[in-house]
Amino acid sequence: MPIRKIKSIKNAIYNIPLKEVLSDAKHGDHTHFEIIVSTIFTDDGYEGTGYTYTGGKGGRAIFSLLEDEIKPTLIGADANDIQAVWNSMYWNLHYVGRGGILSFAMSAIDIALWDIKCKTLGKPLYQVAGGASDRTKCYAGGIDLNFSQEKLLTNIQGYLDRGFHAVKIKVGKENYLEDVARAEAVRKLIGSDIKFMVDANYSMSEKQAIQFAKAIEPLDITWFEEPTLPDEYEMYGRIADATTIPLAMGENLHTWHEFTYAFAQSKLGFVQPDASNIGGITGWLEIAELAKQHNIPVCSHGMHELHVSLLSSQSHAGYLEVHSFPIDEYTTRPIQIENGLALAPELVGTGVEFDPVLVTPHLVKTS
Ligand SMILES: [Mg+2]
Repeated sequence: MPIRKIKSIKNAIYNIPLKEVLSDAKHGDHTHFEIIVSTIFTDDGYEGTGYTYTGGKGGRAIFSLLEDEIKPTLIGADANDIQAVWNSMYWNLHYVGRGGILSFAMSAIDIALWDIKCKTLGKPLYQVAGGASDRTKCYAGGIDLNFSQEKLLTNIQGYLDRGFHAVKIKVGKENYLEDVARAEAVRKLIGSDIKFMVDANYSMSEKQAIQFAKAIEPLDITWFEEPTLPDEYEMYGRIADATTIPLAMGENLHTWHEFTYAFAQSKLGFVQPDASNIGGITGWLEIAELAKQHNIPVCSHGMHELHVSLLSSQSHAGYLEVHSFPIDEYTTRPIQIENGLALAPELVGTGVEFDPVLVTPHLVKTS
């Protein structure tokens, strides 16, 4: 294969306001989300867009890592050899960045290179990444712990009206009985055919998690996400042993090694890698392969406009999270739902192109 050299890289950071304040049990109020975009240009005229995102904090550090540390090392590198670029970023900054914001910065570069790869092949991402299907099961992931029960139910009804066949709510109220009451109200509203997940954002102790899980077992819960600290791999295993509800995590595991610990110790029912913080599409596909070896459905967290193609590509896909940060609304191709399934873009490349008219008003800085 001829060498396709990286000629230049342009980085940008956007800070985008949410339409309303969204809260979960551990990260407080979200008022904005940040998108950090890397655009790679090759010497033979290709252009690829990659990105990562945050819940509103840390984005400028990621931008600096990309602009000041990573970019100078990649000019002249072979854009076709994605694994070599990935390895060079990882080992250059491993000592200070392993599993931290380095995983986010690497993701932006990796996704941009995959965009170029798909464009050189003339194919959409779902075909290049595996091609199992052109659509995937999905759910609406609410960030709604601060909503009154009435507002929570109105919000869930909105998801049903948009065509979702699966929904998730946040839990982690001070008194777990309030969480139980909210979950019961949601199950009553959605009926028995809609899938229903809960997410505690690691706000509970082992004892609290087991107590809560026991209380909601009659509600046919598809998974209980991040009951306790994701680093407590063995604790997850003990909670899994104590309840019939499958456990899920992955958004806070940012290295391949962390996932191997989870697969070995945590008895997960679902795994949720995020291509924005596991080293991009390269990292996400590695975790998907691990999940396949362990017979666990692979899901996703966040950036649904990209993950829709990755989930669609995999034969052991679980559920795509359609996240409450509407990144897709700032792209040229927002998410599309049909018969409860999310459709992968048929566009050549990753299918994620930011609309300059929509994002430019939120630009913080660019290189
Ligand atoms: Mg979550």
